[in-house]
Amino acid sequence: MGEIVFQNTMTGQKEPFVPLHPGRVSIYACGPTVYDYAHIGNFRTFVFQDILRRFLRSRGFEVTQVMNFTDVDDRIIAKASAAGLGIREYTDKYIEAFLVDRRALGLEKPEHMVRATDHIGDMVQLIERLTAKGFTYVSDGSIYFRISKFPGYGKLSKVDLSGIQAGARVDVDRYDKTDARDFALWKAPKPGEFFWESAIGPGRPGWHIECSTMAMKYLGETIDIHSGGVDLVFPHHENEIAQSEAATGKQFVRFWLHAEFLLVDFEKMSKSLGNFYTMRDLLGRGTKPSSLRFLLASVPYRRQLNFTEDGLRQAASSVERLRNFVARVRNGKFPAGASAMGERATRATAEFEQGLEDDLNTAQALAAIFDLVREANTAMDRGDFRQDDAAPVLRTMEAFDAIFGVLGDDDAEKLRSLGIASDQGVLSDAEIEALVAERQEARKSRDFAKADRVRQQLAERGILLEDTRDGAVNWKRK
Ligand SMILES: [Zn+2]
Repeated sequence: MGEIVFQNTMTGQKEPFVPLHPGRVSIYACGPTVYDYAHIGNFRTFVFQDILRRFLRSRGFEVTQVMNFTDVDDRIIAKASAAGLGIREYTDKYIEAFLVDRRALGLEKPEHMVRATDHIGDMVQLIERLTAKGFTYVSDGSIYFRISKFPGYGKLSKVDLSGIQAGARVDVDRYDKTDARDFALWKAPKPGEFFWESAIGPGRPGWHIECSTMAMKYLGETIDIHSGGVDLVFPHHENEIAQSEAATGKQFVRFWLHAEFLLVDFEKMSKSLGNFYTMRDLLGRGTKPSSLRFLLASVPYRRQLNFTEDGLRQAASSVERLRNFVARVRNGKFPAGASAMGERATRATAEFEQGLEDDLNTAQALAAIFDLVREANTAMDRGDFRQDDAAPVLRTMEAFDAIFGVLGDDDAEKLRSLGIASDQGVLSDAEIEALVAERQEARKSRDFAKADRVRQQLAERGILLEDTRDGAVNWKRK
């Protein structure tokens, strides 16, 4: 196995990745702002974070990942109040939905999934620490971070600070690069607005302080990897650095990894353009969770991902091709012995690893797998594949699936868990396998009428069978 390199947004360079503590990697991943259902652009980033942690775990690292839920910010306060609900009550529903969506996409659970509103006391303490060091000032009851006090301000986003007036402030959580200003750590409540009583006065935290607080609470003052969408570089991550490093005097993050935007048909996804999709929109229209996961994972995270219907169809057929291949190798009866295919599979694993080592180049990693699939299929067609080739080929496919997670045929179950498909008439994988075995038995005892009946029965439930040349049976859902 070779060296792992990650493109670090801070330096703009690919750098060898070595964690601070041998064998252990700490990752902070900015999670969703839970004021609505997460959209596929958000999930692009979450799938990348999943690939990242799966890859590091596959390399033997013990990963501790923290993901936050932003369950208090400007938009949540406005929406909850419009709905006549408390912010906890309002956001509970979207947190639950997010967890269900994550499971459907096969995302591993981070070690800590934490809510901002459960850490108000910790945030107040961090703000007090910054105040004690002279980094804050108060204006109209709100507390601001004075960026001119922090010399490194702008080092991540390379924001241009010339022409900024001392004391110019910004109150909103999200703002433009052109508006680099002192930002609110703690906001005084507007009349009628929800607030917490605290040692630093009544109010609520700004968005940025929550991530600094929770990252350092669970991972320590210096963390290995911080990740998120590229739209978070400024102001969010710039402000996280300022708050954290001003408080501790230590480097906050060693590697900054940012996922590029997802476009839909080459346009920025937006509700007004009508090209805005949540995962539920797509799955409700018949997209399989595995197709979506494959598509989102297949484009390296540092490249823009152009999402199209055609791409989704191609992803579905790629997943099917891979599943059928594994079934063919696993169930096939091949002549005894071994060919060069075993060695070929080992080389494919190495190439797959090399792709991922290079800043998680998933496209390169996938190409290695598809090359193997093509060559092994050809060998099987020609009768050149040998029984002892199966194990090394299957090991390569296992290594692939430990990262990509699309080979298990559990789409129907996942859709059911989202309440999208009804239970009625849907056969479980085990039921299908049992019927396929029954048909095989019937054929073996030359009861072809029965074999046909079972095939018909499966077809009526939307299951298609394919008899392969080597005597195995592949099945797929229509
Ligand atoms: Zn964050």
